[in-house]
Order: sequence, then structure tokens, then C-alpha cells
Amino acid sequence: MSNMRLRFPPSPTGKIHVGNIRTALFNWIWARKNNGELVLRLEDTDAERSTKEFEDVIIQELNWLGLDVDEGVGVGGEYGPYRQSERKDLYTQYINQLLEENKAYKCYCSQEELDEMREKQKAAGEIPHYDGRCRYAEDKDTDDFVVRFKMPQTNEKIVVDDLIRGRVEFNSEEFDDFVIKKSDGMATYNFAVVIDDALMKISQVIRGEDHLSNTPKQIMIYKALDFDLPKFAHLPLILDEDKAKLKKRSDDDAVYVGEFRRKGYLPEALFNFLALLGWSPGDEKEIMNKDEIIKKFDLTRVNKSGAVFDIEKLNWMNNQYIQDMDLDRLYELATPYLIEAGYIESKNDIEKNRLLKILDLTRDGLDYLEQLPSEAELFFTGLEFEDIENAKNEINDPEVKEVLNGLIEELGALDHFSSDNISSVFNKVRKETGVGGRKFYHPLRVALTGRGSGPDLVSFSEIMGKEEIINRLNKSLELVAS
Ligand code: GLU
Repeated sequence: MSNMRLRFPPSPTGKIHVGNIRTALFNWIWARKNNGELVLRLEDTDAERSTKEFEDVIIQELNWLGLDVDEGVGVGGEYGPYRQSERKDLYTQYINQLLEENKAYKCYCSQEELDEMREKQKAAGEIPHYDGRCRYAEDKDTDDFVVRFKMPQTNEKIVVDDLIRGRVEFNSEEFDDFVIKKSDGMATYNFAVVIDDALMKISQVIRGEDHLSNTPKQIMIYKALDFDLPKFAHLPLILDEDKAKLKKRSDDDAVYVGEFRRKGYLPEALFNFLALLGWSPGDEKEIMNKDEIIKKFDLTRVNKSGAVFDIEKLNWMNNQYIQDMDLDRLYELATPYLIEAGYIESKNDIEKNRLLKILDLTRDGLDYLEQLPSEAELFFTGLEFEDIENAKNEINDPEVKEVLNGLIEELGALDHFSSDNISSVFNKVRKETGVGGRKFYHPLRVALTGRGSGPDLVSFSEIMGKEEIINRLNKSLELVAS
């Protein structure tokens, strides 16, 4: 192990957004690359919104993507506890230290008072801020107070030395005396995160750019408590195609990891895709497995500008992975979608070999596995014509009828309905009738599948079996018999 210690500290207050998981992923890759340690901490200070269910979801999604952690919730370690709700006494201890050292103060202002202050400032054209009026207040005999951190009164430069963005300067003037302990006695995010990162010996804080404006406040707390500063790296925001921050706008938009999982994106594809959100290896290669990514990844080469979440690219990538994946694994992952669609009741409903063939034949057309039922529909439903009038027109042709009749006879005579034999029959009938090319295949496709496009007809026939294929040919001929 190196001395590098990284952390992923989500709040278990909701489903996990791809932006968050990208942060976890970059931390994970960087930790693995540098032989460091990754800590999972749960920032559950918001007692009302934090739940065990959301905690489980976080762990489930991390596992699904293969982002194992070395320490923290679910794993243990020597710097625990790893839930902020269990660390309240620690925060109180450091808040008391700041109070004693006169680096923080109790604020007794009521909500009305604060609102009034804000309104006046707004009316005077100022940015609303706390004006520090309790800095010199006498101690009152009440528990109803918050604790505020004393920002310097003279303007100071606060420098964030960011591994990705370089030197970012702030002025202490931009910040007011912010709250570090809430009236319910719990520390705020900006305070708890510093105590945790310092005590857990985190060496690099890698998180989303949305936290950049918190970093100066946190740096001031590090300094006030004489803690060593970690290195900071702020990852670019994830944007939608309109360059706005990626969020859910309609039911069809997937932004939570669980939605991608349910739709049938493969974890390795999502991993690959997310790794390229804000980083690129500098060559054209896009499909990379974890080891390759770990080998090539460099945090300092992450972009500063926002990364567009291109769903088309994810679909393309997922399709590549589906095409290349082990067929048995595809079988395991795909059957639930066919069950869900009602095509089969259980795996035992269909011969495994047959399903493997169907999957092999349809997988090229899948961006994600939820599309399988519609892609494979024609293997599970009887013959239905997409456009019956068009079908009649195509089949009602002496040459076509001759082809279909010839096929009924020749295919019917086959003992072994293998693709090789079917293919030979197709060739034989083509030769004997003199009908070739599109004139042969297009009406045949309509006759066998009811559709104008679809899978290879030899493979389709083999999968459907002799009886079904002969039935379909007869049914199609009946369509034009009268
Ligand atoms: N709980 C914070 C979040 O999920 C963590 C921010 C941080 O990494 O400091 O956004």
C-alpha cells in the first residue's frame, strides 16, 4: 500500500446519480492505480432524509460496478465509525475547541432576524450574508443556538491548489461566518467533512466541481484546527446534450445508476463510458477494460470543462459489449427481460440451446437488454403480418408461389433441420425456380416472419423448427389462395 488514501462519501438521501458514481469511479481507478486505499464514508447528517434503504442502494450499485472499497461502511477499518451520524461526539469536541480558541462563536439569531437581515441586504443591493452580529454576544442560557466559524475580517486570499484546475483563488471576503454546528447539535457538511477527512488521513479529496466553492471554507477550518491539508481535485460537471447540468427531465431520461442497471446496460460498459466522462487516454481507443483504464488513467489529465453525457455513445458502447460478451452470461442476464415481457414464464420454458441461438442472432441489434423482447419478438409470437395488404401483394405472384411451394416440399423432406441443410434447400429452390436475389428473399422474409426486415432467414428457420416453418409457408400461401 502507498500512503495514498482516497474517499467516497455519498449521502444516503436518494438514488445514486451517475455524476456521483463517476466520482466514485475516478477515486476507485486512482486508488487502484496508485496502490492506495479507498474509504467509503456515509454522510448521513441529514437525519430526516438519510435512510438505510438508500445506504443499501449505494452499496449495491458500487458492487454492481465492481467498485470495491478497502475501508469504511460494510468493510470496517481503524478510522471508524464511518457514518457521520455516529461521529457526532468527535465533531462536538472540535467545535468546542474552536469555541475555546475564539475561532468560532455561538449565534442566537432567530430565523425572523436572519430573514430580516437578508431582506435589508437585498434591498441595499448586497449579496445576502450573515453580518457577524453575534460575534460578541454574551453567552446565553439556552440550547437554541448555532455555532458559526469566524472568517478573517481582513480580506485574505484562499488558494485551492487543485490537481485538475491548477491554482484557484478565492477571497475570504466572499464568505460570511458560516454555520458549523446546527441548532440540533449536529455539525454541518463543511465542518464534518474536514474532521473526517483529516482524522481518516485522506490524502486526496477527489469530488465534483459543484463542491469547489465549499473548498475555501473547508481550508479555513483545516487551518484553524492545524490539520494538514489534503490535495484537492475537482472533477468537471456532467452535462446533458444542451450543456446544462445533467438531471432528469422526463421519465425516459436515465440519470440514476439503478435505471441503467434495470434497462440492461452492462456494468463493464457503464464503467468504460463513465471513465471517459472528463478523461481520455489521448488516443482514439474507446473500448477499454478496467485494467487498461487503470493503466492509462491520469488524474492530472482530467479536463476542466464539463463532460457531456452522450447517451448515443453509451448505447453504442453497450452494444459493442453485448456483441462481444460470453453467450452464457448474456443468457443469464437476458432471460429476466423475456420473463418480464411474458414470452416465457421461467428459464425452463425454453430449451437453452434455442434461446442461445436467438440471443446470438439478435444481440447485434441491442443497445441495452430491455430492448430484447421487441428485438426477439418474432421468435416468441405466431406469424403476424405487419402490413397484410403489402404481404398479399408480395406473395401473390406466380414465381413467389412457386418458390414457397418448392420450399414446402423440399424443407418438408429434410430429416435433419440444420442450418446447412436449410441453406442447401434455399439454394436448390433458387436454382430450380430461377428466382434469385431480392425477389427470392424479400417475399420469403414476409412469408416467414410477417415483416420486411429482420434476422438471417436460415438461422431464423433453424431456430423456429421444421413444423413451424412449414406452417408459416402454408399460412402465407393461404393468404392469397382465394
Ligand atoms: N456528501 C457529499 C456529496 O455527496 C460529499 C462531498 C465531498 O466529497 O466532500 O456530495
